[in-house]
Amino acid sequence: MAAYEYETHDYDVVVVGAGGAGLRATLGMAEQGLRTACVTKVFPTRSHTVAAQGGIAASLANMGPDHWQWHMYDTIKGSDWLGDNDTIEYVTREAPRAVYELEHYGLPFSRTEDGKIYQRPFGGHTTEFGEGPPTSRACAAADRTGHAMLHTLYGQSLKHNAEFYVEYFALDLLMSDDGQCQGVVAWKLDDGTIHVFNAKMVVLATGGAGRAYFSCTSAHTCTGDGAGLITRAGLPMQDMEFVQFHPTGIYGVGPLITEGARGEGGYLTNSEGERFMERYAPTYKDLASRDVVSRCMTMEIREGRGVGPLKDHIHLNLSHLPAETLHERLPGISETVRIFCGVDVTKEPIPVIPTCHYNMGGIPTNYWGEVLNPTPKDHDAVVPGLMACGEAASASLHGANRLGTNSLLDLVVLGRAASIRAGEVVDRQSATPQATPAQIDNILDRFDKVRHANGQSPTAEVRLKMQRSMQSNAAVFRTSASLKQGCEEISEVWNDMSDLKVTDRSMVWNSDLMETLELENLMANALPIIYGAEARKESRGAHAHEDFPDRDDKNWRKHTLAWIDPKGKVKLGYRNVHESPLTTKAEGGIDPKRILPKKRVY
Ligand SMILES: Cc1cc2nc3c(=O)[nH]c(=O)nc-3n(C[C@H](O)[C@H](O)[C@H](O)COP(=O)(O)OP(=O)(O)OC[C@H]3O[C@@H](n4cnc5c(N)ncnc54)[C@H](O)[C@@H]3O)c2cc1C
Repeated sequence: MAAYEYETHDYDVVVVGAGGAGLRATLGMAEQGLRTACVTKVFPTRSHTVAAQGGIAASLANMGPDHWQWHMYDTIKGSDWLGDNDTIEYVTREAPRAVYELEHYGLPFSRTEDGKIYQRPFGGHTTEFGEGPPTSRACAAADRTGHAMLHTLYGQSLKHNAEFYVEYFALDLLMSDDGQCQGVVAWKLDDGTIHVFNAKMVVLATGGAGRAYFSCTSAHTCTGDGAGLITRAGLPMQDMEFVQFHPTGIYGVGPLITEGARGEGGYLTNSEGERFMERYAPTYKDLASRDVVSRCMTMEIREGRGVGPLKDHIHLNLSHLPAETLHERLPGISETVRIFCGVDVTKEPIPVIPTCHYNMGGIPTNYWGEVLNPTPKDHDAVVPGLMACGEAASASLHGANRLGTNSLLDLVVLGRAASIRAGEVVDRQSATPQATPAQIDNILDRFDKVRHANGQSPTAEVRLKMQRSMQSNAAVFRTSASLKQGCEEISEVWNDMSDLKVTDRSMVWNSDLMETLELENLMANALPIIYGAEARKESRGAHAHEDFPDRDDKNWRKHTLAWIDPKGKVKLGYRNVHESPLTTKAEGGIDPKRILPKKRVY
């Protein structure tokens, strides 16, 4: 048995993650006087949220008519009818309040001439229940909205005495025998000490898993650690096969060009200089939803109309836009493009390609953030003591495809909802449950095993094998053959994991060990993605299956659940979609006829 000393901390709530979701949850908990710790592997303002460019959606109607029900309809359609409609109503209704709250917290939004919050168009956001013109719904702070949000929320959290444990890597959840979560164990990266956090409520806000793919827009820290913690606790992940490829990652390197660039008037062209989106999506053209645009770009490339010597990418044109617009509304991307591909956006087109961007799937929760452990009798059974929010979670606001700017919204609305719910269910007077030595040893034994892994395969090599396989077998286009091959290859990678070699055995700033722990967590994402995709015999949202090109609501309008056993075997199950919104038409809710599934055209 591994012998490690550890320090113990007792809290009402421990939030793991300090991106937009973790910070909004932390702030809400601390505001209510709950003793709250926020544990994070990177400094809060370095979380991937800092990279969000385009904006946050809310029907403020500052630039023209808008309505929360139009936003709700767009989100349901965007989700390809896989989202949970109670969550979608909750979030789209709360959106304006959430944005004004951010404004009052001090977020420096861009402004209109008359001083209102500036809003820009984004793909899939329309008016009149998808019948009217595009709407300007994305509230933006130039093209640095996430940066502004993270700094605002971090400042507010400090004001409310939340305690931060920065550069602590959460290893695993402390689970009781009867399935209650009672805390988390973390490894402090800079001095190598181990910390046991006992808590009445743990909130996982660990972000997405872009790094499961070879080419992605997300930070190196986006390794889907939450999935590792959840699946090792014997709990399932949900809808992981739905991975969003953003149409405009910079070709060859990955960084994102915000969809706001097309919102401001940018457009895509093929090798013939044709604005091909007009052919595929006659109404919304370059502002169709992301899965649609990514698919069209891939089709152009496959049919030989890609640009560049290898005809393997597409051009994004901004040079026709006035220099002031580029300077004022898109300063960050102009700089990024100059640095990463030496292109001056005022003169030349930008080389772009669909790039892995966002995980629609995640830890299943209700819209209060409570983690679900569905049973055949109760699809909505809750795990006591455990919540999740942000990109790590699947509430399911985004269903099979997320609309741009709905994620920043998700973070603040559902991060806050989790804190409201915790305020109701956490008993401030009761004693904090104490982890038993056996629970702690279990976690540290795994840690120790990884630390002393002494096989033949370096972590970087195994990781690359996983990333390449995911990229070639489970990206924008998927076939029965590619998915079957992907399952075989990713299971093979799982077996390779027993042959890992960690060279550095120290406890202090051991990035080799950290990356190996992250690789284990990435595998807890890759397995459910590939097995869930292989099983789903239809096309829906981001899951475009060439052998099953149509959506099949009769058999497949359901959430996928995926458990991973200790041998790496994936077990799949399914959960009902919440088709009913929160309120009825008589109560002021949306007309149920409006949200019946129909063909998704833009
Ligand atoms: C380049 C880019 C641009 C985007 N632009 C937009 C946009 O304009 N609008 C929009 O709505 N969405 C956008 N998105 C999506 C959106 O930004 C993300 O989905 C969102 O920021 C995720 O926030 P989060 O709080 O869930 O996670 P993150 O911000 O990724 O934070 C995760 C946190 O978890 C912590 N963590 C993870 N694992 C561990 C561990 N093991 N132990 C301790 N701590 C851990 C990290 O330290 C970090 O603090 C963009 C995404 C990218 C990549």
